Amino acid sequence: MEELISKIAELIIKSKHAVALTGAGMSTESGIPDFRGPNGIWTKNPDAERKAYQSYFKFQQNPKEYWIDRMTGASLLGDLINALPNPGHFALAELEKMAILKCIVTQNIDNLHQKAGSKRVLDYHGNISLLRCFSCDSRFDPREFELDRLLAEDRLPPLCRKCNGVLKSDVVHFNEAIPADVAQESQAEVGKCDLMLICGTSAVVHPFALLPRMAKQYQSKQKTIIIEINSDPTPLTEESISDYLIQGKTGTILPKIVEEVKKRTS
Ligand code: NAD
Ligand code: ZN
Repeated sequence: MEELISKIAELIIKSKHAVALTGAGMSTESGIPDFRGPNGIWTKNPDAERKAYQSYFKFQQNPKEYWIDRMTGASLLGDLINALPNPGHFALAELEKMAILKCIVTQNIDNLHQKAGSKRVLDYHGNISLLRCFSCDSRFDPREFELDRLLAEDRLPPLCRKCNGVLKSDVVHFNEAIPADVAQESQAEVGKCDLMLICGTSAVVHPFALLPRMAKQYQSKQKTIIIEINSDPTPLTEESISDYLIQGKTGTILPKIVEEVKKRTS
């Protein structure tokens, strides 16, 4: 393990454009359950998965009911707003400060990379702390809308300040397209990267899971080294998309890698 960490640190230092792709496993050590790990929400409660598939349909059919459900029902992932980053998030933020990591593309909606201090974060599946207009994709801080008051006065859904379109959570629901700006920027980052760190994802949710595969395809133009840091092997491991797997917890492994990078660069 120590040898592998030294090797990865060396590769990271040599890279010119390192990018991290992160998933729910990154935040389990912050107390937020993942979906498909051994204690995952879908693993323990397949009914919840079926229900989640209906959210987007509900929004399209009846935005007011979608909003009432959101505001009065329990959150599947618990208290995301008060969750705190763990050493894995801080390690990635540090790698960015050292001008090594250029971007994080995350499937997580929990805002923890930003809370840890990372600046360039692409929220591939949206961000729980924002609202997004269904018509023009503008994002807003929910606090601007006094949602509790709209609920009490029967004036939901909130409407866009720019185009009067209906607002939904910024979170991308099942069957909803990835917002065009984030999809384009993520693809551009994958096109540029020569080293990809894949952290805590089962790599089965599409189109996100295509990003490492795209990086592999670009290899005819430039070699991209793909490194997985995951508790369990994934299809990327099995299909030899990734070049290395460090099996373990992101909250332990990422700080060790950063420590090693620091040792070698100071
Ligand atoms: P997933 O649940 O499908 O897979 C998580 C993977 O991480 C599993 O393979 C698990 O073994 C591994 N893992 C768990 N804890 C780990 C740790 N400490 N260190 C390393 N690996 C660990 O998650 P996914 O691939 O991100 O897909 C789930 C989807 O659900 C995403 O699209 C995401 O939007 C959403 N989601 C988000 C959150 C969040 O924001 N924190 C939480 C759950 C689900
Ligand atoms: Zn709008």
